[in-house]
Formats: sequence, structure tokens, C-alpha cells
Amino acid sequence: MAKKSSGLICSMCGSPDRPDNPVVQVFDGLNLCTDCIKFIDDARDAQLKKSAKVKAGKESKGEAIPKPKEIKEFLDQYIIGQDEAKKYLSVAVYNHYKRVNQESTADDVDIEKSNIILVGPTGTGKTLLAKTIARLLDVPFAIVDATVLTEAGYVGEDIESLLTRLLQACDYDVERAEKGIVFIDEIDKIARKSDNPSITRDVSGEGVQQGLLKLLEGSTVLVPPNGGRKHPEQKMIAVDTKNILFICGGAFDGIERKIASRLNTHVVGYGHDGAGMKKQRENLMRYVMPQDLKSFGLIPEIIGRLPILTSLEPLDKAALRRILTEPKNAIVRQYKKLFLLDGVKLEFTEDALDLIVSKAIEYKLGARGLRSIVETIMVDAMYEVPSEPTETFTVTAEYVKDKLEKAHFEKTKMTE
Ligand code: ADP
Repeated sequence: MAKKSSGLICSMCGSPDRPDNPVVQVFDGLNLCTDCIKFIDDARDAQLKKSAKVKAGKESKGEAIPKPKEIKEFLDQYIIGQDEAKKYLSVAVYNHYKRVNQESTADDVDIEKSNIILVGPTGTGKTLLAKTIARLLDVPFAIVDATVLTEAGYVGEDIESLLTRLLQACDYDVERAEKGIVFIDEIDKIARKSDNPSITRDVSGEGVQQGLLKLLEGSTVLVPPNGGRKHPEQKMIAVDTKNILFICGGAFDGIERKIASRLNTHVVGYGHDGAGMKKQRENLMRYVMPQDLKSFGLIPEIIGRLPILTSLEPLDKAALRRILTEPKNAIVRQYKKLFLLDGVKLEFTEDALDLIVSKAIEYKLGARGLRSIVETIMVDAMYEVPSEPTETFTVTAEYVKDKLEKAHFEKTKMTE
């Protein structure tokens, strides 16, 4: 005898209780038919599988952190020279992410966070190094300028706002941001005034350094989602900085003097031969030690939280020449590609490239100036060539000279 229908109706699909698809009461007010229960089960299984896959994917990605040599090889494609800094950075970044990935395993050895400080003249590749590493690792990356930060009560941005940029870089995905890289530029500009009479900024420098401490060492901080100053009505985002890698950069103008005086007092026989001394002075930056940063006006606690200290060398003529053409995204290569998209082969003569480098040196523009010089030179060609039936366009030294003169490049750059 066929079972009598209970009269229940599935709350999900509206099917009545039938022998081939019975409906049961799950709880008061919710009835489900067998088909819908199966559907829900399957959906849940699929969801579980998906999240397991995502997790596995993340883990395998973690395991696949490139080795220090691979990191350096990647950096070599984009950054000319600076071998020492690249090596330090590759090891530090590798260790940092190894540490991040090992955290879930029970272990009593605590690998300390390896924040980095890069010391070197402006335009030598500090930002580029940090940016390139972030690109390799596919982690969120933000550049912040230490000079806009002030301690609470002063006009400027709250220190926590430097994490706002990181959140913005990953669409406010807090979990991703917590494994990101923050590059703090111009860290030397928040040096303590009393230790460094050449800095005329207000005394809040030390306050900012104090504020930075808790971010650098790793703690949960409340970040204003839109940056700037925190205000009471604003909803804050909690970010744990434990696994965020901080890379600080600064020119530390004048630190050579501190290094020289330390070396003179500590290294026996150093500096007695005049020519040697001069040469050493030029390369003094490479001997930078934590105590020099202290003499410059960074507080010892900050220095302690930036354990990896390395320096970048000034870029000479040969390095600038290589920067023009060699890196994967060198400015000359970029222009060649742009022209090629219009079917035009762009060429630069050797003396044109030499002249561009000489101009960058003459106007003390360094590597950063190469781009502005090339852009000034190329603007007319970029305007005209696409409408012309040209197949090849050659930039000669004459052309460079002419365009720079016409653009009054010297005057515009001199007044900057
Ligand atoms: P800073 O040391 O002031 O942070 P950047 O990294 O911002 O300097 O360099 C400015 C620009 O100059 C870069 O975007 C890049 O085009 C170029 N540049 C500087 N140094 C190098 C380098 N060593 N190799 C290749 N390009 C460089």
C-alpha cells in the first residue's frame, strides 16, 4: 500500500511530499524535499573542496618562494649594478617570507622579522628595488613618504595611514595586506634634529620615529580606511603588521662625514695616505653601520627594528648608459615598442645615447633624469611619426641636441 502523503511542501522548491521525493520537516517552519537536501549537500561539498583548493594553492605558492639567487637574477633584469644591495635584499626577503610561511608550524625557534633599510643617494634605485621585489612575489606594495607623517597633534598624516596605501593596493583585502611590502621613503628626513643640525624640520621627527616603532616590530593597529587623520566617527580597519615587510630608504645626505670620523677613530692607519683617503671618501657609503644612522639622528629603537642595513652606490656614467638600454623595461626599449606598434623601427645612435647620459650628469638629474630627457626629445617624433609613411626613425646626437635646445630643457631643469 502506498504511503499516504504527509501534506508537507518543500520550502525551497515547492514540491509536495511524494514517495519518490519525500519532504521532511527539518525544523519548525522549514521543510525540505530529498532532492533539495541532496542539492544543499552537494553545494556544501563543492564549497569545501574549493576552499581546500584555495588553501592548498596558497600553501604551494608559499612553498614556491623564489630562492635568494633567483630573486637576485630577477632583480638583475630590471636594476643595473647595486649588487651588494640586491644580495642583501634577496636574502632578507627570502627569509622574511620563509618565516611568514613557517608560522603555522609549531616551533620554538622564533625567526625575527627582517625589515630593511637602504641607504644611498637619491635616484640610485632604492624604490625600484622594493617595487621589483613586490612584483616578483605578487604581494601588495605601497610607497609612502616619511615626511608627510607626523605624530598625533601635528598637522599631517597619522602614522597608521601609511598602511592605508597598502590596503588600497589590494582593494582592502586585509589578509593580503598583512603579507605585503611597504616602502618608506625619505626615512632620513625624520631624523632627530638635535643629532643632526642640518635638518631644519620640526622636532616631531622623533615623535614619528616612536610612532613607527610599533608598526615595524609587528602589532595590530587601527588604520583609517581613507588615510589622513583619524577621527572618532570613522570606522577603522584592524591590520596586523607582524608579517608586513618594511623597507626603508633614505639618501642620508652628509652621513659620509659620520662614517669617515668613525673609521678614522677606529681603523688604525686609515686615512694617512691622501689619494687612498680621497678614493675611500667617495665610496664611504658602503661602510655604513648602524651607529652612523644613530649619529645621523635615527633613534636606536628604530635602528634595532631595521636589522638589514645595506647601501646603494652612486651611479656613474657607465651605469647610467646601461640603465638607458639594458633593463627589461628600459626607457629606450619602451619607446622602441611604442613606435613598433605604429609599424616604425626606432633607432638611437651610440652618440645620441652618450649625449643623453652626459646631459643627465651635467644637470645632476641622475637616473631619474634619463626618462625626462628622453621624453623631451621624443615628444615631437611621437606627435608626427604616426601620421607619416616612415618605416625607420633614427635619433642622432644632433637630433637630441636640437630638441633639448628647443625645449629649453636646461632652463626648465635648472629652475626645478
Ligand atoms: P631612489 O633611490 O631615489 O628611490 P628610484 O628607485 O626611484 O630612486 O629611481 C628612479 C628611477 O631611476 C627609476 O624608476 C629607474 O627608472 C631609474 N633607476 C635608478 N637606479 C636604477 C638602477 N640601478 N637600475 C636601473 N634603473 C634605475
